[in-house]
Amino acid sequence: MGTTRREFLKQAGLGTTAIAVPGLLTVGCGKRTRPNIIFIMSDDHAEQAISCYGSKLIKTPALDRIANEGVRFENSFVTNSICGPSRATLLTGKYSHLNGFKDHRDRFDGSQVTFPKVLQEAGYKTAIVGKWHLKSEPTGFDYWNILKGQGQYYNPTLKEIDKAEDTQHEGYSTDIVTDLALGALNDMEQGNPFCMMVHYKSPHRNWMPNTKYLDAFDDVEFPLPESFDDDYTGRPAAEAADMRIEDMWLSFDQKMVRPYYGEETGRGGKDSWTENVEDSYEKSLERLTDSQRKAWDAHYQKRMDEFKKLNPTGTEKKTWMYQNYLRDYLGCVLSVDENVGRILAFLDKKGLSDNTILVYTSDQGMYLGEHGWYDKRFMYEETLSMPLLMRYPMEMPSGKVVKEMVMNLDFASTFLDYAEAPIPKEMQGSSLRPLLRRWDDSNWRESIYYHYYENPRGWHSVRGHCGVRTEKYKLLHFYLDDRWELFDLEADPNEMNNVYGDPNYVQVQADMKKELERLIEHYGDDIEQAIQDHKDYMAKQEAKKKTGAQD
Ligand code: CA
Repeated sequence: MGTTRREFLKQAGLGTTAIAVPGLLTVGCGKRTRPNIIFIMSDDHAEQAISCYGSKLIKTPALDRIANEGVRFENSFVTNSICGPSRATLLTGKYSHLNGFKDHRDRFDGSQVTFPKVLQEAGYKTAIVGKWHLKSEPTGFDYWNILKGQGQYYNPTLKEIDKAEDTQHEGYSTDIVTDLALGALNDMEQGNPFCMMVHYKSPHRNWMPNTKYLDAFDDVEFPLPESFDDDYTGRPAAEAADMRIEDMWLSFDQKMVRPYYGEETGRGGKDSWTENVEDSYEKSLERLTDSQRKAWDAHYQKRMDEFKKLNPTGTEKKTWMYQNYLRDYLGCVLSVDENVGRILAFLDKKGLSDNTILVYTSDQGMYLGEHGWYDKRFMYEETLSMPLLMRYPMEMPSGKVVKEMVMNLDFASTFLDYAEAPIPKEMQGSSLRPLLRRWDDSNWRESIYYHYYENPRGWHSVRGHCGVRTEKYKLLHFYLDDRWELFDLEADPNEMNNVYGDPNYVQVQADMKKELERLIEHYGDDIEQAIQDHKDYMAKQEAKKKTGAQD
């Protein structure tokens, strides 16, 4: 049983933390002060859209402040680059094949061990507000208030612990999630240390900015990424993927309404799927209040008029859509940064900054036109990466950049380490704490393992693959077709030149294959089983087709 919000507020932390000052490590009867944790995670926020990561597109002053006052991870990676699986891994500290959430057909098994549960046992009060997206209800939290499903950008509906009825909140999703999280923290009275997870829906597709940021990038022409016109030579899986910017929907993605597009949908003709998506966009606008709708329509009318005037085709159209995509996406990021700034200001005001571990990350990265794409899923750098910033003035240095390869697999062990709680043996990550001390004496992993499953079970037609990345090289195995890709990350940082089979890389290829095998065994994965699961699924689909049953 969970507690009500009021009980959570009463029991959780300000009392302990208010007397924690830098240098003072003991309180009360000699017990070391354990840090609070605020874990902020956005959805699909690429490092290319964060200024402390060198963004050419946007300034993010609040996120930069965390990096300046804390630590920025330069090589932070995800185990499986898609929303639900990333969340399941960060909660359990286990790869998808062990936590059971491989793709979005799965339902999270809330009975398994997660870091919030272990924190609770260690005396922490735990809470999550915002995106959850794991189908089953949260477990291991004293308080939760979560967006329904994917969540809506405007006037979202949330489900709160112990409440039978869902609540629709008027306003913008990113603001509301922050309001609810700070509201919970604000009223805290004496008690235990806390772990608050603030998880934004933004900037996930379909990138609907707050009304105040709609026009923020109107006069900006964004530079094209170097790999924008990738022709996918030597990479058939990349060529087959359905995530090209020119194939976006003119409605849902580019935000036009009928009759500004007609048969020309952006998806090459009409089918029932296209009709559904078009209807879903127009229906989503019905959620807006009159004043929100007025601002929305005024802004997007300009886009529709421009489309009519230019009537762009081919390359011109792809570039025009890219510019719009970035305007919308980055408009969403402005709200994320603004709200991270609100959380920072709140911690300062409450005197909580010194004894709180503040984390900012995203469940994975995103293609912002690289390889001509939007979306994620592949093990290529832009979406294997997840931004990671941490601040904890009591122990972490300021302005440090960590170059070691870390993963979302490591979050659970890290939080438990700082909370002085036992780290369950089944968790597969490593605490990042040794990398975060003011000195650096750690032995760290020299390779990471990745496994993505979804195709053909989900959108975007990205074939299942596993792979290994070291500092210099990356090997991908698209095991359903037994195709391989090898990249020299120093010579070819954009990963356009597959050197698998190249005589110059014979030794590298052999070493990387060996390392991949070692990691598969080390993490207890089974590729033969993944292939069999795929075959079983396809056979089932085929049988359904024959009997005419609906999926
Ligand atoms: Ca995501």
